[in-house]
Amino acid sequence: MRDPTAFLKEEYDALVRDELDWKLRVLQGPSLPWCEVDGREVLMLCSNNYLGLSNHPRLKEAAIEAVRTHGAGSGSVRPIAGTMDLHVELEKRLARFKRADASLVYQTGFAANAGLIPQLAGKGDLIVSDELNHGSIIDGVRLSHADKAVYRHCDAADLEKVLGEAERRSPAPRRILVITDGVFSMDGDIAPLPDIARLAHEHGAMLYVDDAHGEGVLGDGGRGIAEHFGLARNRVHVEMGTFSKAFGVVGGHVSGSQDLVNFAYNRSRTWLLSGSHPPAVAAACIAAVDVLETEPQHVRTLWEHTHYFKRSMQQLGFDTGKSETPIVPIMVGESGKAKKLSQRLFEERVFALPIIFPMVAKDRARIRTIMNAAMSRSDLDFAISAFERAGKELGII
Ligand code: PMP
Repeated sequence: MRDPTAFLKEEYDALVRDELDWKLRVLQGPSLPWCEVDGREVLMLCSNNYLGLSNHPRLKEAAIEAVRTHGAGSGSVRPIAGTMDLHVELEKRLARFKRADASLVYQTGFAANAGLIPQLAGKGDLIVSDELNHGSIIDGVRLSHADKAVYRHCDAADLEKVLGEAERRSPAPRRILVITDGVFSMDGDIAPLPDIARLAHEHGAMLYVDDAHGEGVLGDGGRGIAEHFGLARNRVHVEMGTFSKAFGVVGGHVSGSQDLVNFAYNRSRTWLLSGSHPPAVAAACIAAVDVLETEPQHVRTLWEHTHYFKRSMQQLGFDTGKSETPIVPIMVGESGKAKKLSQRLFEERVFALPIIFPMVAKDRARIRTIMNAAMSRSDLDFAISAFERAGKELGII
C-alpha cells in the first residue's frame, strides 16, 4: 500500500528542485542593526524592526517585570479567563495613541485579518480588494462567504469602476467592504487613501485599511496612514495594524468606533478561540506605545535614513522602484541575479533578502531593503558601498 504521507517528501523535493523552498537564516542573538546570522556578523537590512524598538531598554524591562508580576502565560483565551489588566491597559493606550474611540488587540496581525474580515462581510455582501493586498487579507476574504472583486493595484479609477459595477448588480450587495494595505510591503508604495476613502464614502462602503507597515512610520508621531493623509476618523472605519513591525514586539490590532470593537471581539473566531498574549508581550507593547508617544526622534531618524539611503542608491544608478517609505526595493529584474546579489551582499556582511517569483512577477525580482532608526549613518554608508561593489560586479549598475 502506498504511504499516505508520501506527498510530503515529493512536494518538498519539488520545491527544492525549483528553488522555491525557504532556506532559513538563523539569528544568533538579538535583532540589532549589527547581528550574528549563521555565524557571521552582518548589517541587518531586512527586518521590519523600523524603529529598533525590539531591543529598546524600556520594552525589555517592561517584559521582564510583567513576568515577575503576572507570570509567563495568561492561562486562557481572552473571553474566558485570559483577559488581564495588562491587555485592557494596552487597548486603552493604543486607542489613545491612534486617536480612536476604541482598540482591540489580537494575537497577531494575521489573526486580526483572518478573524475580522469574514465577520464584516458575508453572504450577499461584496468585498473589494487591491490586487496586491497582503496574504492575511486574502485569507480573510477567502474565509468570508461574500462575493469578491479585485481592483488594479492602487488604481482609484479602477476601484471606481468596480464599485460602479457593484451598484448595477441585481440584487445589489447588501454591504460593501473596501480593503487595502496602507503601505505595500513589496514595493514600499502608499495606497491613495484619500481617493479610496472618497469613493468608499460615495458608494456607501465600509473602508478597512491594513496599516501594518504605516504605523510607527507614517503620520504625526508614527500614528499611521490615516493621520498621514489627515483623514477624518469616520472615513476609515477599520484601522488594522500589528505590533510585530515598528512596535518591535508581536500582536495585531484594530482601531475604530466602540461599536466596531464590541462587534469584533464578540465575533472574531481567532480572538475568541485562541490563547491571549503572555503578560510580557502585552507589557512590552504598552511600553512601545509609550516610547512612540514620548520619543519622537526614532520616527524622525527613520525618515532621515530613508531619504539618505534612497538618494545615495539612486545616485549610484540603482532603481528603487516605486518606494515612498522606509521599504526600499533595489530592482534587479531576473530572479537568478537577485539571488546572486543577495549572496554577494552577505559575503560583504550585508543581510538583505531577494524577493523573487512567486512573491513578485518573474521579471520584477529585487533585493528588498528596510531602514531601521537604530542604524547609524556609517552603517548606511557601509551598506551603500557593499551594494556599489556587488552591483558593479553583477552589471546591475
Ligand atoms: N498585514 C501586512 C501588510 C503584513 O505585512 C503583515 C506581516 N507580514 C501582516 C498583516 C501580518 O501581521 P503579523 O506579523 O502581526 O501577523
